[in-house]
Amino acid sequence: MAEIKVLIEGIHKFLDEGKLRICSTVTLIKSDKNILVDTGSFLDKDKLIEGLKKEGLTVEEIDIVILTHLHLDHLINIYLFKNAKIFCKFNGKSSGQFHIPSEECLKRTEIEDNIKIAKDVEFLLTPGHTPDSISVVVNTNKGKVVIAGDAFPKEEFVDLESQEFLGYGQDMEFDTEEEAQRFLNNLDSREFKRWVEEK
Ligand SMILES: [Zn+2]
Repeated sequence: MAEIKVLIEGIHKFLDEGKLRICSTVTLIKSDKNILVDTGSFLDKDKLIEGLKKEGLTVEEIDIVILTHLHLDHLINIYLFKNAKIFCKFNGKSSGQFHIPSEECLKRTEIEDNIKIAKDVEFLLTPGHTPDSISVVVNTNKGKVVIAGDAFPKEEFVDLESQEFLGYGQDMEFDTEEEAQRFLNNLDSREFKRWVEEK
């Protein structure tokens, strides 16, 4: 069974000065390979290196990095992992890309549901937040865990039935940033619900 450790907890918060503090969750999977899911924000680089150190790992020892999608707060520290294969999907297409450092070239591979990338670790396509969002399904001794990137924008979102969905044609003027954010979150959940229903 694989083990999972959250190295950095994600944050998406407006600070008092109107600035947005934003960082993806960064998750380590220990299987037959060392896998990192998302890499966090630039400001969290040291925290990330420190988190790996606590797990007895260096950036060089990460074998695979999976980017759940290509928003900056998920990908900006990717350059640290020079020995890793990088998996991401782009432009909503099924093909992704990985880097094989020893061959100094880029190769493409299909990223689809149920493709196994290590022991007890596989992909699950979860479009909604972006068309090309992917999740990672991990078998652990506590059961199946899905690392879903931004597919779940908030905790309450886990209960899809409790979500209120806004209709199309909504007036796009917002008085506050919170209101705008609320609209975006609901937009995500609506798209996600549609995707779940289609499946
Ligand atoms: Zn995002």
